[in-house]
Amino acid sequence: MRPERACASPKRPYSAPKPKGAAVQNNPNTTLITATAPVATATHGGRAKCLQRLVRLDLPVPRTVALSFSAVHDIAQGQLPDIGAIVSQFEPTALLCVRPSSEDPDWGGPGAVLNIGMNDARFVELSDKMGAEAAAALYLRFVQTFAIHVARLDPDVFDEIEADGREGLRQSLRAYEDETDENFPQDPGEQLAAVLRSMARAWEGTSARLLRQAKGAPADAGLGLVVQEMIPGLGQGECGSGVLQLVEPATGLPQITGRYLSQSQGRDALGAGAEALYLEKDPRGVALEDVAPEAFAALKQHAALMREKLREEMQVEFVIENGHVHILDGVRVPRSARAALRIAVRLAEDGIIPPQEAVMRIDPHSVNELLHRQVHPQAKRDVLTTGIAASPGAATGKIVFTAAEAQASAARGEPCVLVRRETAPEDVRGMHAAVAVLTERGGMTSHAAVIGRGLGLPCIVGASEMEFQTKVRMIKAPDGRVFRTGDILTIDGSTGQVLAGEPAMMEAALDDSFQTLMAWADAERDIGIRANADTPADAQTARNFDAQGIGLCRTEHMFFDPGRLTVMREMIFAATPSGRKAVLERLLPMQRDDFVQLFRIMEGKPVCIRLFDPPLHEFLPTTRAGQRELAEALDIPVSDVTRRVEAMTEYNPMLGLRGVRLGVTVPEIYDMQARAIFEATLEASRKGKPVVPEVMIPLVSAKREVELVKARIDAVAAAVASERGQEFDYRLGVMVETPRACLRADEIAHCASFLSFGTNDLTQMTYGLSRDDAGRFMSVYVRQGVFTEDPFHVLDQDGVGELLKLGVERGRKSKPEVTVSVCGEHGGNPESIAFCRAAGFDYVSCSPFRVPVARLAAAQLAISDKLGMSEG
Ligand code: PEP
Ligand code: MG
Repeated sequence: MRPERACASPKRPYSAPKPKGAAVQNNPNTTLITATAPVATATHGGRAKCLQRLVRLDLPVPRTVALSFSAVHDIAQGQLPDIGAIVSQFEPTALLCVRPSSEDPDWGGPGAVLNIGMNDARFVELSDKMGAEAAAALYLRFVQTFAIHVARLDPDVFDEIEADGREGLRQSLRAYEDETDENFPQDPGEQLAAVLRSMARAWEGTSARLLRQAKGAPADAGLGLVVQEMIPGLGQGECGSGVLQLVEPATGLPQITGRYLSQSQGRDALGAGAEALYLEKDPRGVALEDVAPEAFAALKQHAALMREKLREEMQVEFVIENGHVHILDGVRVPRSARAALRIAVRLAEDGIIPPQEAVMRIDPHSVNELLHRQVHPQAKRDVLTTGIAASPGAATGKIVFTAAEAQASAARGEPCVLVRRETAPEDVRGMHAAVAVLTERGGMTSHAAVIGRGLGLPCIVGASEMEFQTKVRMIKAPDGRVFRTGDILTIDGSTGQVLAGEPAMMEAALDDSFQTLMAWADAERDIGIRANADTPADAQTARNFDAQGIGLCRTEHMFFDPGRLTVMREMIFAATPSGRKAVLERLLPMQRDDFVQLFRIMEGKPVCIRLFDPPLHEFLPTTRAGQRELAEALDIPVSDVTRRVEAMTEYNPMLGLRGVRLGVTVPEIYDMQARAIFEATLEASRKGKPVVPEVMIPLVSAKREVELVKARIDAVAAAVASERGQEFDYRLGVMVETPRACLRADEIAHCASFLSFGTNDLTQMTYGLSRDDAGRFMSVYVRQGVFTEDPFHVLDQDGVGELLKLGVERGRKSKPEVTVSVCGEHGGNPESIAFCRAAGFDYVSCSPFRVPVARLAAAQLAISDKLGMSEG
């Protein structure tokens, strides 16, 4: 659904200005804007339609003629409309301006041309009326704009003219004549025709077309034009022009903002600096309210009426002519993401729009900007390179090249950016200590990206245009600049830009408006949203963002803590099952405590715990120093450690001994984890609401794997229940992340209470595309149109989606009550959520920081359906 347009229909009858010139009035392609004229956004553009709405509100809008897209297209082709008929709509002495009116204001358009109709004779007449200097200023502005934008003369010629007023005018007319060998055109009709022709042609030019297509405009987007009578803003009494809005555009807070400049036109007030007046009384200086209180009061009233009736915060362009206010135009206040949210909520709270519409007006992708610190929109950016924006938010710090350095830096209280070629589990402690992460390799689901998003840590991966020489602790930007340990970088994980230095930042904004909007969204939503949370801190974030449970707890992340990592390594090094069991017994209480904390934080909401998934060797030290450290801890020779690490190395670890394959071949690990989960269940249920844990088996591809693991887990559950003399419930489920598991979902569902689709691995295996290496060529693939989007970021609906649909259908066929969900990174992507909802998934689970984005996106889908606005 598209959010409602800014302007609403009138309730009040309106007495139209008396139309003159039947040719114009009867022709929808060049029509006087009256309350009933055939003007529409789709045919005449947003500005023309908005002006009609202002006319319907009886606001003091100067007389305006609208030219349709088709009329402007004809003009570009050399077919002018009846210029005489247009001119005859205005008083013979009127000056005119022409402004663009595209369908969407963001698509831009040629600049406005003011004071059409100025010529030598009008100059003399106006000099008598308003003074020679004011009249000269009007004429000068027109001559210069016409010369540069219509006659396409070299702007430098006019830049060199320093004089203004009459002298400036004289020199500008002379320059025009010198450059064109013609007199400046004196006939208003001829002037108007030339302006219309040049604006129409500018719109159809290649560069303008490419520019607007980049902003989402269709290739054949049309341009309308509005020809409006000028209210000069110069002359006797209080005259001038300005811009007013009722909100502050960066924050969206109610505050009258804008500027007014006496004896000025157009938007001059905004660029005038100290000369411009404030609008409302202001301790910083003189305000319009001081010099023209009545005009200010009228203006404020008009703006409030526009807000109410156009159902939008509008920027009002106005002119004061001898104390009288005229409204020239109204456009949507340009706004930051946080302002957009506050504005939508306030409009709904004031009863101007329904809450549902407020929910629809916010782009879910923009919510990310509210949840994280951002580089200030006005800050200057010294961009070194752009990588994959893997985890949003921005942070500045001194660069460090190892996890240990990051920890040391954090201990000194110095924010640091961890720079690695790629990250591995042993970097996680460094990631915890850093304020941001930058890697050379990786894609949206690589290790650094997943952990970064989980921690809410700004992260850029795949910055492959930068040279990473981490051994000598330096990185080199494509422009040759070199950065070493301690140099300051800023990581903008929202855009993927790596910036030199420390630009100004804007803090996260989780205020009341945000909470209000989210509550409205939840009231509409019809698909569950859980969070992927691995640690108590993640779970707390998930709760703060009102996730409905944990959809994926990757238990292996609990072992990255330095104290635990060593015990984990001892377990991996244990030579016999009994030796392994002994070490696992030391890990058991640690895991149990983790789970107790998770259950307590989630207070009875479902928590889905995935049993150990990664290949074991990921936990082994890769560096010489790390291997030495481990040898010391185990009291064995380094050579033993090195040999063992080599022996465990696999050609394709992601397709090797991991997930359920470990559960089948080294069952003690899952036994320990199951025991920890069940003991924690009883412990956490003692005080709070009863906990029903969900235990999930990863990387399944065959039913028999599930049967084997299920038998052992059921046995552990029975043992714990009998030891403690207390029964409890639990649900056992399967992670569907291999293509075969999708195909065999019917028989797998028999042994499972739930199926959770792991779309990260499923995408990797469906494409045969390594999620850790795809970053190297992903941008080329997307640029060349092989992939429309990175399939690790936006679900590939055609291929991976087909497998998901098939898996859900087969699973539900054999077990209708089976719960189905998605817990891959796609769970937080609005486009992918639409797919999951349509395919009948019960919930999606995503990184905690993406939960609000997902809640909003899901609510919008439900609202669109209710209003019958969904596409296709
Ligand atoms: C997945 O594969 O989609 C998933 C959620 O698991 P992981 O990313 O931990 O492999
Ligand atoms: Mg997986």
